[in-house]
Amino acid sequence: MSDDGILEKAATKAHALTRGELAALIDWPDLDALFKAAYAVKLREIGPRVSLRGLIEFGNVCEKDCLYCGIRKSNANVRRYRMTADEIVAAAKRAKDAGYGYGSVVLQSGELTGEASVAFAEDIVRRIHEDAGDEFGITLSLGEQTEETYRRWKEAGAHRYLLRIETSNPELYAKLHPANHSWEARRDCIRALRRCGYQVGTGIMSGLPGQTTDDLAADIEFFAAEDIDMIGMGPYIPHPDTPLGAGQSLAGDAAKKRLELGLRMIAATRLYLHDVNIAAATALQALFQTTGANVGSSQVQMSSCRMSRTRATARTISYTRGSPALARLPTSAAAAWRGVSSRLAKNRCGTRAEIRRTGERDEDRSWAFGRS
Ligand code: SF4
Repeated sequence: MSDDGILEKAATKAHALTRGELAALIDWPDLDALFKAAYAVKLREIGPRVSLRGLIEFGNVCEKDCLYCGIRKSNANVRRYRMTADEIVAAAKRAKDAGYGYGSVVLQSGELTGEASVAFAEDIVRRIHEDAGDEFGITLSLGEQTEETYRRWKEAGAHRYLLRIETSNPELYAKLHPANHSWEARRDCIRALRRCGYQVGTGIMSGLPGQTTDDLAADIEFFAAEDIDMIGMGPYIPHPDTPLGAGQSLAGDAAKKRLELGLRMIAATRLYLHDVNIAAATALQALFQTTGANVGSSQVQMSSCRMSRTRATARTISYTRGSPALARLPTSAAAAWRGVSSRLAKNRCGTRAEIRRTGERDEDRSWAFGRS
């Protein structure tokens, strides 16, 4: 099959490519052609719309020690925080009402498994659900838990759950985590979430040390095999206070390449899965800000606007363009958000970014913004 034949085959039919063809797609030499094909599938399958959601990172305390993560429990340089239940519920209310009007919130924190933490999350989910009703989506991203815990949170009112597999390769996973972290356990959590009735999201990091294009192609096959509803993936960015990232930095051409790989993965995922939701990861946004990159001739910008996981203060990070609340954001976050809406509309790599307001229109009038 000719190269062009692979692109056409991918755009025509979901799940149509072999592993080798999928790897060829990720490495596609003509970046513009790749993005253009992915964007056409995105428009055909989803339409010209982007969904915005409010993200509340309510704590950065974590029991685990993933070797790449800035908030791993062994990192003594992090100032830890956790918002109170009242603060979290008020933030969700603000995301829904008070002029923001988002259709859903994502509640995210480090992984905590004790009964007190489980009950804490259950309480805030129930309170948000009782206040906002079933139309207001609640997504959780609280790590690996027992199936019973997932069920409790679901019954309290949660709708969706995001648990990134990070890589579909168990051997690579083992190099990124301490020995007591299990790839199989993580995969089983994803399956438990499905059994509990959640819409399930997962994702990976691209650009990991030792990761191959075949690994990345297998990651996309993993999304298909597990029938994943939403993908949240982004480039690996070394963190200096971690075993994996110590002594490394990502700048210049290396950063641009890492960003490009992240966008290639979004495009290839769109071309393989067609109608899946694909979130804009903050790691992509961070690299955009670092590199000021134009990738190919297609300007692409991500949507998320959230504060660093290592910040000591926590706030709702769902801000509407032009909102006075922007004034209260750190300068970098506010600047990022100001650029988000207009640039989202020019997204041409096939992502379906998260977080959006009903009825709002971007400068690109062909794009509609809706609740989800
Ligand atoms: S990646 Fe998640 S589970 Fe691992 S240390 Fe970071 S917050 Fe905790």
